[in-house]
Amino acid sequence: MTVWTPEKKAAAVLKRAATLAAKNSKKSPVVLVPSPPVPPREPDAPQFIIAVDWEHLELPEAERWFGKLRAELDKAGRILNQRHSEPQFYPCKTCGKMIRDGEEKGRDNSYINPKTGLSEPARLCNEICWEKYQSKRIEERRKRNERERAG
Ligand SMILES: [Zn+2]
Repeated sequence: MTVWTPEKKAAAVLKRAATLAAKNSKKSPVVLVPSPPVPPREPDAPQFIIAVDWEHLELPEAERWFGKLRAELDKAGRILNQRHSEPQFYPCKTCGKMIRDGEEKGRDNSYINPKTGLSEPARLCNEICWEKYQSKRIEERRKRNERERAG
């Protein structure tokens, strides 16, 4: 298994972008390169890199691709703005009931999702679910401490 240090990752991305750009330059000068696998603790890692040889593309073609990319980015901006204004819903961490963002009765920002290893707020729909959640967290901590004491 490859261990992806930031240097190795950057080198691999650039090499792959150069290879694909060279291979595809006749078909399409714009190449979307999937980024290499990253450790699960890097939520900001890019999904794609856009590689374009702006210096050497024929000017009309470069302008056509610039227009396409700008249209795509405008579309992304419109969709993301729209998504910001739509209410978001999240499941209650205890009972699973969907709660509108901001209307939760309890929220724990220190929660780490054990499946992803990423931090995400735990939202609770009412006081009963909040108390059950707290009891569960206390029990988990007690067991963890016991395991650590047992060595
Ligand atoms: Zn609930």
